[in-house]
Amino acid sequence: MRVRTLDDMPAHLAGKRVLVRCDLNVPVAEGEVADRTRLEAALPTLRELEARGADILILSHFGRPKGRDPALSLRPVGAALAALLGREVGFLDWLADGATPAPGVTILENTRFDPGEEQNDPGLARRLAALGDFYVNDAFSAAHRAHASTEAIAHLLPAFAGRSMEAELRALEAALGQPERPVIAIVGGAKVSTKIDVLANLVARVAHLVIGGGMANTFLAARGIAIGRSLHEPDHLETARTIAERAARAGCTLHLPFDVVVAQDFRANAPHRVASVHEVAPDEIILDLGPASVEAVGDVLKTCRTLVWNGPLGAFELPPFDAASLAIARMAAALTAEGSLVSVAGGGDTVAALNRAGVAGQFSFVSTAGGAFLEWMEGRALPGVEALREKVLP
Ligand code: ADP
Ligand code: MG
Repeated sequence: MRVRTLDDMPAHLAGKRVLVRCDLNVPVAEGEVADRTRLEAALPTLRELEARGADILILSHFGRPKGRDPALSLRPVGAALAALLGREVGFLDWLADGATPAPGVTILENTRFDPGEEQNDPGLARRLAALGDFYVNDAFSAAHRAHASTEAIAHLLPAFAGRSMEAELRALEAALGQPERPVIAIVGGAKVSTKIDVLANLVARVAHLVIGGGMANTFLAARGIAIGRSLHEPDHLETARTIAERAARAGCTLHLPFDVVVAQDFRANAPHRVASVHEVAPDEIILDLGPASVEAVGDVLKTCRTLVWNGPLGAFELPPFDAASLAIARMAAALTAEGSLVSVAGGGDTVAALNRAGVAGQFSFVSTAGGAFLEWMEGRALPGVEALREKVLP
């Protein structure tokens, strides 16, 4: 079932009110928006609806308030959005009795001020839906949560995906839905335990699975390799074995590091050396993939048409242990530029690593969605997306 988009909405929306669920959960420091990425992501949809003559009511959560918390009001975000849109942006405290929206573009107060939001409460959804004629969800990053403003409300009004949501869904579909094969997945990061479902889903879908970062240590330990004092999860050796078996059965080649960069301390510029994984001393810690492993990953990457990447390959915050992540990021960017690779990456630290490599803009798609991106990598249906699929309208 297709997700409907702005293309399915009427061309003329004068006199109509459109409720647009955005992700305005931006970092604010001393009353000022410190990073406008999420506001910029909202602009294409807002501009398009504005051009069609619609009045726009923006719905969003902000932080994690317990009830009404003035420190987590969305009011300060209005000025930043107004500057980007180049027009006045109003504010509506919709929780107040008799609140009625004015024409134009209006930000509604933090949806989480009402406890019904996180309970996906139908009563709250009805109250919000009564404010508008159409519902647009442009917040992929909030789509993994079934909340009143992301899920329940979508069943009460004609519901559509905004342009950012649409772009994200398209990119993710191209990466794991109907991808160009072969597909390579790179999964790194600190722990196996946070990504078991991601790994289990990927082994059934991709030709190559590269495991790096701290989680590779757990896989090495599961094979009886001595990894010194490296970060690993002794409780998940069996998990690692199970995933390796599932990969073998599914015909997915698992790539583990065979050389690594080791140091005595977990800090930037700690004295380090390159070692075979079979020669890690008891007092050493593995902090990155070694150059031979990086080259091997590069060779596999060149044979693939699609890359999905989550999790840095090493302790990338601590140079020079960012070397493997930066090298692979640059290789993937170059292959993407040549047109031989579709590259999709996501995850807070992964995006930071791509930015550090200076190549985030050269990937086919970089998701800033965090939790929603990971749930998608787990192969789960996201309630906020499912609610937008074509259906008989009420
Ligand atoms: P993302 O935010 O992209 O989903 P994660 O949060 O799962 O990624 O993983 C990033 C973290 O993994 C970083 O803080 C990084 O330092 C850590 N990490 C990667 N490799 C190692 C390693 N060998 N030892 C310890 N920590 C590591
Ligand atoms: Mg992280």
